[in-house]
Amino acid sequence: MGKIKSLRCITCGKEYSPTDVEYTCPDCGPRRGTLEVIYDYEQVAEKFNKETLARDMERTMWRYLPLLPIEDRHFIQPLRVGYTPVYEFPKLATQHGLKALYIKDDGQNPTASYKDRASSVVVIKAQEKRKKVVTAASTGNAASSLAGFSAATDLETMIFVPRTAPEAKVTQLLIYGAKVFLVNGSYDVAYDLAAEAATEFGWYNRSAAVNPYLVEGKKTGALELAEQLSWNPPDFVFVGVGDGSVVSGICKGFAELQKLGMIERLPQVIGVQAQGSAPIAAAFRKYDGKNVSIDDIEAATVADSICVGKPRDIVKAVKYVHANGGNFITVSDEQIMAAIATMARETGVFPEPAGAAPFAGLLKLASEGKITGKRAAIMVTGNGLKDIVTARRVAGRAIEIEPTLAAVKEHL
Ligand SMILES: *Cc1c(COP(=O)(O)O)cnc(C)c1O
Ligand SMILES: [Zn+2]
Repeated sequence: MGKIKSLRCITCGKEYSPTDVEYTCPDCGPRRGTLEVIYDYEQVAEKFNKETLARDMERTMWRYLPLLPIEDRHFIQPLRVGYTPVYEFPKLATQHGLKALYIKDDGQNPTASYKDRASSVVVIKAQEKRKKVVTAASTGNAASSLAGFSAATDLETMIFVPRTAPEAKVTQLLIYGAKVFLVNGSYDVAYDLAAEAATEFGWYNRSAAVNPYLVEGKKTGALELAEQLSWNPPDFVFVGVGDGSVVSGICKGFAELQKLGMIERLPQVIGVQAQGSAPIAAAFRKYDGKNVSIDDIEAATVADSICVGKPRDIVKAVKYVHANGGNFITVSDEQIMAAIATMARETGVFPEPAGAAPFAGLLKLASEGKITGKRAAIMVTGNGLKDIVTARRVAGRAIEIEPTLAAVKEHL
């Protein structure tokens, strides 16, 4: 059966055929039983290496198709996803004692977030499986991304977001034609409702973690970063963490490149959580190399995309970052908001709060002298226009004037 060898449970290690299990390990349940996609890496290596990539003119994440869980190109959407730019900022690097500072701007995806990498895969999977309806619970981006990618298909999209989701993200959902349920409750509550509805009505569920193919899409940011830096990845990669799927994907991407002999050493992946929403960082500190302890919390942070008190990919995130040799750190909301303005002013890249969190984390470690002389990259996972209310709090004020030159002079 193609290049996928099995779907393996992250907790008990039992392996399933993709035709037998749709979401999670029946023995370990939806929370601990998330599945990893295991490929036949020998088969992959036959048609996938640095040389084949160098010849490939495709400038989307589908250049990594041999390492993605899709068997043929039939359902690939026309929207360009991935192959987002990596920028280098030498002056900023020097200023913070780094050898190099890179920003990968995933705000440039079709719906303006990193989530497009996963949605594009899941929308294909839904069509391969002949589903009629796709659903997701989301803090905002996963949903708007799913709605955008299913727009040009015959799939119907049902979305559950917390009532507090930012206006721009809800507008995206509606304009793409999704049916939107604004749930009177937190994201964690909306998540459980979407799962119940998916089971009840037979919808295909794209909510974080339960669907094993999400992490596959999410790993492509790592594949790209390595390739775009000529297979010489940085020492550190910083990324914002909510449910833990993006950070897991990035770890898996680098691990697979190493397994295929395409990079020599793994970059250390640093998952950055907001202080008021850091259950994965807490679990990581307690991790003994065997059991991941799960303590859900009531989450609160200005960074809506990573405001997750009941992270669904916590087991994978902790295990993968541990295996990677990386770490989790936390930053305050003040640090996140300051980082939005600093990044925009110093680089021209305008991140949403969750996209600025990894920059806040980098600044924190740099100021503690922990990454001096190193090469570091930041994954900007969402565009700043997605949440202008928060950005306005740190943007400064415009000057209101009468339409005269004298008025201009007065304010110079
Ligand atoms: C979803 C998201 C994240 C975090 O991803 P998780 O898989 O939930 O950890 C970070 N930044 C942005 C902008 C996101 O939308
Ligand atoms: Zn299991």
